[in-house]
Amino acid sequence: MKKLFVTILTLAVLFSCNKSTKSGDDNTLDEKFDKYKEGFVTALWQINPGWASAVGYHKLDSVLVVPDAATDKAQLDFAKVQLDSLKQYDIENLSNNNKTDYYMIKNQLESAIFSIKELKSSQWDPSGYNVCGSFAEILNGKYDSLEVRLRSFNVKMNSIPAYYEAAKKNIKNPTIEHTQLAIDQNLGGSSVFETDLNDALAKSKLTSTEKKEIQNKAKVSVKAIKDYAEWLKNLPNKTPRSFRLGADLYAKKFNFDIQSRYSTDEIYKIAVDHKKDLHDKMFVLADKLWTKYRGNEAKPTNKLDLIKQVIDQISLKHTTPEKFQSEIEKQIPELIAYVKAKDLLYIDPSKPLIVRKEPAYMAGVAGASISAPGPYDKNGNTYYNVGSLSGWTAENSESYLREYNDYILQILNIHEAIPGHYTQLVYSNQSPSIIKSILGNGAMIEGWAVYTEKMMLESGYKNSDEMWLMYYKWNLRTTCNTILDISVHTKNMSREVALDLLIKEAFQQQAEAEGKWKRVTLSQVQLCSYFTGYTEIYNLREELKKKEGENFNLKKFHEKFLSFGSAPVKYIRELMLSGK
Ligand code: ZN
Ligand code: ZN
Repeated sequence: MKKLFVTILTLAVLFSCNKSTKSGDDNTLDEKFDKYKEGFVTALWQINPGWASAVGYHKLDSVLVVPDAATDKAQLDFAKVQLDSLKQYDIENLSNNNKTDYYMIKNQLESAIFSIKELKSSQWDPSGYNVCGSFAEILNGKYDSLEVRLRSFNVKMNSIPAYYEAAKKNIKNPTIEHTQLAIDQNLGGSSVFETDLNDALAKSKLTSTEKKEIQNKAKVSVKAIKDYAEWLKNLPNKTPRSFRLGADLYAKKFNFDIQSRYSTDEIYKIAVDHKKDLHDKMFVLADKLWTKYRGNEAKPTNKLDLIKQVIDQISLKHTTPEKFQSEIEKQIPELIAYVKAKDLLYIDPSKPLIVRKEPAYMAGVAGASISAPGPYDKNGNTYYNVGSLSGWTAENSESYLREYNDYILQILNIHEAIPGHYTQLVYSNQSPSIIKSILGNGAMIEGWAVYTEKMMLESGYKNSDEMWLMYYKWNLRTTCNTILDISVHTKNMSREVALDLLIKEAFQQQAEAEGKWKRVTLSQVQLCSYFTGYTEIYNLREELKKKEGENFNLKKFHEKFLSFGSAPVKYIRELMLSGK
């Protein structure tokens, strides 16, 4: 699931030129704003060429920005100039699409200022310095000939030594956890300049002089990377910063990253109450199912133990490693037919989802993820990547398949594909916005996928006590992710208490819980995005139901909600409640 979240973070939607279709007096203002956006994006790429490459804009592939004081100043200047420009536009008179774009640009700029002036992760997170991934992407790319890409690679290497020298100057009292991560990732990644580069050179038609030049620079690059790791290992870090962000910075980062109408304290309270509610509902179901799954065994007195024992038994119903992909493939048309029959929302039949075995470069971790074409790759396919379990030990694949048992696998398909991520993506492509494709709100995107899980079950999809019990277990994961993240970063929750929460209260395996602990020590806020987005969407629906009474129509609600694209839910809410 970790990989899944990484993929969704970089998930971007198709871009096509955004022409205002609105008629009337506002037309010129929207046209002006569209022009502004074009200029904004071009300028954004100029100062963030690495980000540009990552979303498929390859004109600046050969530029590696040295992260020194001048770069910070350029970022701050850019933010100030752009924030000034935004003031020229009267937001009330913009189209809905441009309104939300406006808010998202403003948030991005203010967030950049916050990062440099207050968050300052450039000082305490040494893993923020790593060139290997972007060089690997140049080698893996399909957008240009190997020779052209290798020449970008060559020029880009020039700045690597200065890059790591600047990094060393920035770092002050880093956290122990991010320091270790930086050492591991830089040492691991350096093979790009040794193994992968040599393979690519051998295949290329470059002259031997060019090849020699590249190989020499690669040696210098590897030395700079390894020196950095060595420097970190020997850093006399007597007063390391805690990996815990602290309540003040956390609340601010939460507001920038999630853009929720709820504060950290509010969503924490909602999550804690929701966990209790889930436990109550699970107990009722597990108690009812006890005899069916545990026969005449005596019921445990502890409610959580009772729930766990029933879940363990239900989880034994699962597919085989060989059938894992075909099982997923089989479910996609079933889901489409169901959504149609129940009139839940329109699904465009002209944009099929291609299920494929996870390609080799995607690290070989099992799981499922959606790969969508970026904003500059209009004709790319959308794939549902399914990890292979071949080569796994019998023990590991059994444990994995129990996790993704016959019930959870269906919920995973709802989340990833129909009507979750994939469907949302198709809709967002219908109101294309380069802004939403590069600044898309993660909480809205994840929230939608999590919302559809519950919505499908509420509509009756594969209804059974087992299905609901397993769904509640799955929903506990996102709920507890939120409790965990806020507790660890703002309430000093210990590792022991955290593992207890995940294992005893969310029924996770030891290995899964330990992985989650590691993740929470290295990231902040992101773990809250799923639950926060879900809560906001669900509550918006209930609010509209009340307001519209008998006129409320679920299909219309879904289609209208998705028509706003990947904007923060709080802005979609404002527009929907005001009937826009
Ligand atoms: Zn089994
Ligand atoms: Zn997701």
